[in-house]
Amino acid sequence: MFLKGKTALITGSTSGIGGGYAKALAAEGAAVMINGFGDAGEIETLREELESLSGSKAAYSNADMMKPEEIRQMVADCAEQLGVVDILINNAGIQHVAPVDEFPEDKWYAIMEIICNSAFHTVKAVLPGMKERGWGRIINTGSMHSKVASPYKSAYNAAKHAIAGFGKTVALEVAQQGITVNTISPGYAWTPLVENQIPDTMKARNMTRDQVMNDVLLAGQPTKKFVQIDQIAALAVFLCKDEASAMTGANISIDGGWTAQ
Ligand code: NAD
Repeated sequence: MFLKGKTALITGSTSGIGGGYAKALAAEGAAVMINGFGDAGEIETLREELESLSGSKAAYSNADMMKPEEIRQMVADCAEQLGVVDILINNAGIQHVAPVDEFPEDKWYAIMEIICNSAFHTVKAVLPGMKERGWGRIINTGSMHSKVASPYKSAYNAAKHAIAGFGKTVALEVAQQGITVNTISPGYAWTPLVENQIPDTMKARNMTRDQVMNDVLLAGQPTKKFVQIDQIAALAVFLCKDEASAMTGANISIDGGWTAQ
């Protein structure tokens, strides 16, 4: 339990990959604050599970990553309830699939806010504490779409490229202060975010569900397998180790070979 005594804040962790990060860090002893939306009972069950995994406290914030004031409050609540943030994972994300000339403006702005702008606000709020203690880990969830593009996902591709670039900049600014900043870029992992985009993709590409699964989602993933949440979470755990202290400013692919092509 090498993270005993450390506090982790993970945005968008009531579901999917974020939930996987939360469990993996808790299993190493971290006190974890989860964030995101969903069923209150399920969120409380997850929070309790994190406490039993870690033997440390766990907390929940319902802060909306579209609202800077709520993001700042979440960071303050984490410090008060669990401890000053040592590990920050910017993970919240949404998707919308449509041709760019039909792309709804509210969806464009929401994707930019939740994936990209929220990370600016979380990082700005946690960095002073990390600098003071001379230790910190910041991890962004990127995507293969932070490196290459797919059609009909203009906002998502733009936001993911942006967060990876932001991560590199912050990494350079804090490189001598014991703080690392990296982006983990998964290929397709089977989570609600992926499942929910199937109907829109069927519509945008005039395809059946099976065609979307095989000819779109897994078409570019050479392993022809979805990346597992546990595999992504294990990479985040590694980035928190001392052995990973020389890894910073990286954008690490875990994409079944997607970006090797
Ligand atoms: P998910 O839908 O299971 O989880 C998204 C999380 O973000 C949920 O907890 C949700 O409540 C939260 N969220 C959404 N809007 C929010 C808001 N306004 N404020 C706070 N929280 C909000 O999806 P996932 O697949 O686990 O995605 C997690 C991250 O991984 C995202 O950044 C996504 O882009 C990225 N990603 C996913 C895949 C994949 O194949 N699933 C691949 C690459 C990258």
